[in-house]
Amino acid sequence: MIHNTQYTIHNTVKTRFAPSPTGKPHVGNIRTAIFNYLHAKAKGGKFILRIEDTDRERFIPDAINYIEKSLKWLGLVWDNEEKIHQSERLDIYQKHADQLLKAGKAYKCFCSKERLAKLREEQAAKKVAPGYDACCRKLTKEDIGKLEQEGKTSVIRFKVPDNPKEVIWDDTIRGKVSIRTDIQEDFIILKSDGYPTYHFANVIDDHLMEISTVIRGEEWIPSTPKHILLYMSFGWQPPEFAHMPLIIGSDGKKLGKRHGDTAIMDYLDKGYLADSMLNFLALLGWNDGTTQEIFTREELEKKFDLGRVGKAPSVFDIEKLNWINGEKIRAMQIDDLVKEVANFDPVFMKNKDTNLFQRALAVMQTRMVTLRDFTENSNYFFAIPKYDPGLLVFKKSDKGLTLAGLKGVLEFLGQTKEIKSPKDADKIMKEAVDSQNLSNGDVFWPVRAALSGQEKSPSPGEIMWALGQEKSKERLETAIKMLKNP
Ligand code: GLU
Repeated sequence: MIHNTQYTIHNTVKTRFAPSPTGKPHVGNIRTAIFNYLHAKAKGGKFILRIEDTDRERFIPDAINYIEKSLKWLGLVWDNEEKIHQSERLDIYQKHADQLLKAGKAYKCFCSKERLAKLREEQAAKKVAPGYDACCRKLTKEDIGKLEQEGKTSVIRFKVPDNPKEVIWDDTIRGKVSIRTDIQEDFIILKSDGYPTYHFANVIDDHLMEISTVIRGEEWIPSTPKHILLYMSFGWQPPEFAHMPLIIGSDGKKLGKRHGDTAIMDYLDKGYLADSMLNFLALLGWNDGTTQEIFTREELEKKFDLGRVGKAPSVFDIEKLNWINGEKIRAMQIDDLVKEVANFDPVFMKNKDTNLFQRALAVMQTRMVTLRDFTENSNYFFAIPKYDPGLLVFKKSDKGLTLAGLKGVLEFLGQTKEIKSPKDADKIMKEAVDSQNLSNGDVFWPVRAALSGQEKSPSPGEIMWALGQEKSKERLETAIKMLKNP
């Protein structure tokens, strides 16, 4: 039995992100959301958010918050009216389960936990595959009435049909997938607490919400035959299925905690741009057929093509993310970058001179990999640095030459009207070198140290330009004093 799920009854593309609120969404979950979002965008369709919160044991209330925050950070806007919580739809699942019961396609099962555990033990001892033995299939109406009168609770199980013998679907990413049905047990669709299982609620909702394309991780492939059997039992057309490749670490193993940060919001905290994350995660399995790797949001929304998603595992390469983030930071207008930094760390931005902030950021822009690189490594622009006077003397220079260099720069700085660019500042230092026959190390090094107080920093010309004349003078004077009276 072949289900060509490429054929779809829906005219418009509608995708969904259907997370279970069991913790903080990790990069794998969010890549799923991104592929669903981009596919909908590229096809002019809709993207909805469905919270699959029917597993009450694993439910974490805060998780819904995390999910929404993550999606909002990345700009994955879902169709507003359609945020759905499955826990609010129990009557719908009950009604559909009753429909299957009536049609003889499902049955009530009263087996106790103890019986099921014993069954599993026996199966393990016999080395046969574990699974429910369909014991309650044979219960008569009278049996059921009696058990219910005794107050016995039950679940509803799906009666896996003898035919088709296998379920085959044409996966948009993986091609033809076929799975035998005789290895499927009669799985539970409604639990004794009235909550549906994932399989059941997922199918009912995908159908009722007219989802055209189900894009999810490949770990869901074993569930898909169950889903297709459910669609068939209702006489519904299944949607298109696209199972995305695994994400692996650089060691070739499935991406997990041992690879470091997996929660998506950790990347916000580290100072990655939302657009970089979007770009990077979109490339985990997709490319546009060229060697282009940096994409704007608009390009991704236009160019994304599910047909170009490969099935080979994709490597989560942090170096690549760093490269993308650096490129995006460098491509930004300074005003936009200021806004990003301000959003990222409003406290850092507080009470800082706007002009100085902009110039410091312009100096750091070519050197930053993350926004944090700026907030953590640029304090000396805004506060007088503390350092050991020894730092002022270059290793091939001495105190006398250093003092001469610093004094020379101070003098030429006093004669300069305005430092319009780092090059202007370089000129001042060059004049100090030439006029006294000093070496570059007698001048550039101590100026850099005097202005930044750092072992390593951007060039002295850049810092001088960013600080401006007054602040630079002050720092040079302080350095001279420190050298004279260490
Ligand atoms: N609730 C499932 C999850 O947590 C959804 C899987 C699917 O997309 O069908 O990923």
